[in-house]
Amino acid sequence: MDFQLSEEHQLIRDVARRIAKERVAPRAAEIDAKEEYPEDIFAVYRDAGLLGLTIPAAYGGSGAGFLALALTVEEVAKYCCSSGLMLLLTALPTQPIVLGGTEEQKKTYLPPIAKGEMRAAFGLTEPNAGSDAAAIQSRAVRGDKGYVINGEKAFISGGAVADYVTMFAKTDPAARARGISGFIVPTTTPGFTVEHLDEKMGVRGVATATLCFEDCTVPAENLIGGKENEGFKTVLGTLNSVRPIVAARGLGLAEGALSYALDFARQREAFGGPIADLQAIQFMFADMAIQIEAARVLTYQAAWLVDQGRFQRQDSHMLSIAKAFATETAVKVSSDALQVLGAQGYMRDHPLERHYRDARQLMIVEGTSQIHRVIISRALLDRDLVYP
Ligand SMILES: Cc1cc2nc3c(=O)[nH]c(=O)nc-3n(C[C@H](O)[C@H](O)[C@H](O)COP(=O)(O)OP(=O)(O)OC[C@H]3O[C@@H](n4cnc5c(N)ncnc54)[C@H](O)[C@@H]3O)c2cc1C
Repeated sequence: MDFQLSEEHQLIRDVARRIAKERVAPRAAEIDAKEEYPEDIFAVYRDAGLLGLTIPAAYGGSGAGFLALALTVEEVAKYCCSSGLMLLLTALPTQPIVLGGTEEQKKTYLPPIAKGEMRAAFGLTEPNAGSDAAAIQSRAVRGDKGYVINGEKAFISGGAVADYVTMFAKTDPAARARGISGFIVPTTTPGFTVEHLDEKMGVRGVATATLCFEDCTVPAENLIGGKENEGFKTVLGTLNSVRPIVAARGLGLAEGALSYALDFARQREAFGGPIADLQAIQFMFADMAIQIEAARVLTYQAAWLVDQGRFQRQDSHMLSIAKAFATETAVKVSSDALQVLGAQGYMRDHPLERHYRDARQLMIVEGTSQIHRVIISRALLDRDLVYP
């Protein structure tokens, strides 16, 4: 067993670390306050070649993989969770095409993402179907001109800035999961509208949107993989493979929060000395480090599993464990780090209230903490896989 990162991974991490410190950190508070999609950060990523890490080289990406993306997201999320999400959104909406798309779809829709010429969003959740994704009600009907799509998608990250959405709709409404198909919908398609943007607690640099599809007609070539009713398999493969990237957002955020609180505790004086000298504070820091280091091993291992092609049912509990643990670590560590600052931690003069708000969404997106416990407990109870 080798816990050393490869030279390539170290190089990517070093590039991301420099970008995070020099370009992302100085912008983080403003991005949150203005609730504005940071085009400048997108351009930095594009120029550094960071937008196609999980896109295969044959389709314009670097093919560096999920561990490379996790390391990059970790660095950026130390300062700005929104900027981490922008990188995640190079993988989440493109994975359905990478995993299930036709050759033509891969050639058309993947290179522009890697080059930063297009952006995409992933549309699964609906107002009445979140965790129970098989209950989606969007409908796609085959007609003369292709598929006519009707429905509504809720809380879609990056939906308002996307050039296309990989979205899922029922082609066989009588069936649940087996009646779902995936579609690539360019956002210029008549009948597609961004209905509204949500007012949200955190991660305010990348808006979530409600997307409406009203007799929105796409050519039959836009059916992902060219086969109906294969969409749910693609959804599961996509969500499983992106779990380590959500985990990396949590890991980076927790590291950033701890570093900030450490610096503060060395300066802040109480009862005749720095609060860093108080054992109560030192033990809080030690507990944060324990959680962060456990989250790191789980996150890197999960990303490595995905890079090995191991993101099907058999290994899904390890991906869920990483996602649940790292995102819950982000919430706990950002809360404790804020506590170290006392009243100042609660104020916008410091980044910890932002870290805390940002962390809170991570336990909800891409499978809530409860859903991951369902997956993990099923692996333990239904299969004899975990501890043979
Ligand atoms: C900031 C943000 C960004 C998002 N971005 C996207 C995106 O880009 N694309 C997209 O498709 N979706 C996106 N989502 C939606 C997200 O994936 C869903 O919110 C999530 O899947 C949970 O669904 P829900 O909110 O409908 O909650 P529900 O499914 O209604 O769940 C409500 C509560 O019940 C619990 N629960 C539900 N079922 C079970 C069960 N079987 N066992 C135990 N507990 C259960 C849940 O854990 C939760 O606590 C985003 C959400 C947020 C907050």
